Amino acid sequence: MALTEEVNRVAALFEYGPEDLNKGVKEYIRQMNEGLEKQGTMLSQIPTYVTNVPNGTEKGTYLAVDLGGTNFRVCSIVLHGNHTFSLQQSKVAVPRTLMEAKKATDLFSFLAKQIEAFLKEHHSEHFEAHQQKGLGSKEFFDLGFTFSFPVNQIGINKGKLMRWTKGFDIDEAIGQDVCGLLQVEIDALNLPVRVAALVNDTVGTLMARSYTSPGTTKTLIGAIFGTGTNGAYVEKLDKVTKMKDIAAAEGEASYDRSTGLMVINSEWGSFDNALNVLPNTPYDVDLDKESVNPGIQMFEKRVSGMFLGEILRRALLALYQNDEEVALFKDTSSADNDTSSTTTVANDSALYKQWGIDTSFLSIVEEDHSDHLRITKQTLELQLGVSAPSTEDCVAVKTLVHAIGKRAARLSAVALAGVVIGTDKLKESDEPVDIGVDGSLVEYYPGFEDYIREAFREIEGIGADEKRIRIGLAKDGSGLGAALIALVAANKAA
Ligand code: ADP
Ligand code: MG
Repeated sequence: MALTEEVNRVAALFEYGPEDLNKGVKEYIRQMNEGLEKQGTMLSQIPTYVTNVPNGTEKGTYLAVDLGGTNFRVCSIVLHGNHTFSLQQSKVAVPRTLMEAKKATDLFSFLAKQIEAFLKEHHSEHFEAHQQKGLGSKEFFDLGFTFSFPVNQIGINKGKLMRWTKGFDIDEAIGQDVCGLLQVEIDALNLPVRVAALVNDTVGTLMARSYTSPGTTKTLIGAIFGTGTNGAYVEKLDKVTKMKDIAAAEGEASYDRSTGLMVINSEWGSFDNALNVLPNTPYDVDLDKESVNPGIQMFEKRVSGMFLGEILRRALLALYQNDEEVALFKDTSSADNDTSSTTTVANDSALYKQWGIDTSFLSIVEEDHSDHLRITKQTLELQLGVSAPSTEDCVAVKTLVHAIGKRAARLSAVALAGVVIGTDKLKESDEPVDIGVDGSLVEYYPGFEDYIREAFREIEGIGADEKRIRIGLAKDGSGLGAALIALVAANKAA
């Protein structure tokens, strides 16, 4: 069989047409509403207790800290009230020994000491004044705490650690409120700082975009398309009917009910784990089967940066190892009378290794418009150890890359459109509907946003209104975004 024919057949498996798209959106809205009504659904729809988003006129100085995997970041943000801000920051690596400390205090006192050092360096007057005469609590800095581990959030500045990930292992901290643990250590050092909010990175993206986006339109969705994918959006409080069940289980949380809004962390990576509507090629099936968490994060496994390279690798490998005369990466040009073709893939090629292809590879190929796909050729040689790939090989790789990348973007459109339509936002007013996005995939994959927009136009309930949807990059959710959540939280307290 000709290579082109076989490649087109495989690429067609990734097609996600208008009908699929519309079915996907309807199912997204169904799962979205189900998640607002009860606990333990596919879309978690977690209430964040953030009940308002900024419009760019906010002012003040706020602190933000971020405990991710490896580093601890401290920053202060000055909001100028005109969509702009300035930021100072410091970063330290968390010592290995503290990641596995015996007591929670060991880690959290280290974090508090970094905040102290930061204040001494960047806010020395404020720091000294408090140490000497004790400032009133009105003059305390409000701090947003981005804590990228699984927590069961039960208030805007209250969340119990469910389990550690990423190499951390401090038994004693499990089940404890991480904001409380940090506050105790801050108080022990007598710092003028109040832990005002526990922050999730998607919510940070939503807030950061809402502050920086032009005009006074507030942002509807914050979405991440990076290693993983997730989104947070502004929902009407009275639609979140499961609030009463949460209150019954965890006690009534104090939050501002006057806005009638609640930011929801959708955790949409697990949309449709049951595969009611998600596409499922043989490559998706195998990727999932051999992953550490089979059967979960099924949407994420078709959309985000961690997985697109691996989907491509599996499709390429299948074409290469095909028994039939499909000549991907096989030099057949010199061998008219020789039926066996010459293999030109190195034995230790990344093509044979799980996770061997990074999603940035797809961006390079998608972007290649050079003669005879010279750049793709070089990249195949360099990254996959394919020696002297033919132009036909390169065209084949590009066809598959395009199919996989475009499917990811169209699936992204399903989640975004689900929220836009499910919240009735386009009908509510004539204002633009604003979406903030972050992550290397949406930032660097050529045409990712264009494919999303093309899909929007094919979706019933959006169509020509695609023009009214504004998408903008919102970086620094854990700095600016966390500061803004601290601000919203403090306003509530005031
Ligand atoms: P994080 O998700 O940790 O915040 P990023 O937003 O940078 O970090 O996302 C990292 C993911 O993006 C990785 O899975 C990586 O494969 C992918 N990635 C990195 N560079 C690119 C690129 N140029 N094009 C597409 N994907 C990329
Ligand atoms: Mg990120």
